[in-house]
Amino acid sequence: MTITPTDADPPMNDRVLVLFSGGQDSTACLAWALDRYAWVETVGFDYGQRHSVELQARRTLRRSIAAAFPAWRGRLGPDHRINLRSFGAVAASALTEDRAIEMTERGLPSTFVPGRNLVFLVYAAALADRRGLTGLIGGMCETDFSGYPDCRRETLDALQTALNLGMERDFRIETPLMRLTKAQTWGLAKSLGGEALIDLTVRDSHTCYTGERTPHDWGAGCGVCPACDLRARGWREWVAAGRPDRPDEPTP
Ligand code: ZN
Repeated sequence: MTITPTDADPPMNDRVLVLFSGGQDSTACLAWALDRYAWVETVGFDYGQRHSVELQARRTLRRSIAAAFPAWRGRLGPDHRINLRSFGAVAASALTEDRAIEMTERGLPSTFVPGRNLVFLVYAAALADRRGLTGLIGGMCETDFSGYPDCRRETLDALQTALNLGMERDFRIETPLMRLTKAQTWGLAKSLGGEALIDLTVRDSHTCYTGERTPHDWGAGCGVCPACDLRARGWREWVAAGRPDRPDEPTP
């Protein structure tokens, strides 16, 4: 599946790959990328998540975004799925087996999958190399989540250096949500795609750690797991503030 961009293609630095899980954060990242880059491909990882509903949400969201935003439709390139079940088997956690979601003795939630973002980005970079893409865009955030160490910008800077040394490339790992709260991520989505993007994110994205799709004003989910709790609190905070826009900022 190697492609070599031709003269008619967007320049390499305008061609990016979004790590797209089908959740609220990666939906905002996809919109952010479509707003600023000429060619945007998506990648999703199957690492044995307990709920394939997350992977189905990806397909629905891509279709909804293409239908609602004609200006973005022509920029949305193919979707890629990568099977990482062998990694999931090694790194089993509460997301991939039936364990309670709780804090472990290390101070990390049991939903932490060790090294997950590192593995995702190595695979994403290998795919990007073959596809002639230079930006790797992910929804990693160090503001208000559980302190996953592989979401920190310092970790990603080190990985970017390693990828560029190891692949003789000039990849950029871009993290537009790194310094945003969940409420500010809703604002960023609104500033990129208006209430239409908010509506389809609420309707079609899936953040919940369980497979439940019970409807709420902030989206579908069980309503009680840590991911639902965080998403609901961010939504309420954003709504209480009057659903403000969040103008785009230079990304770390
Ligand atoms: Zn939930």
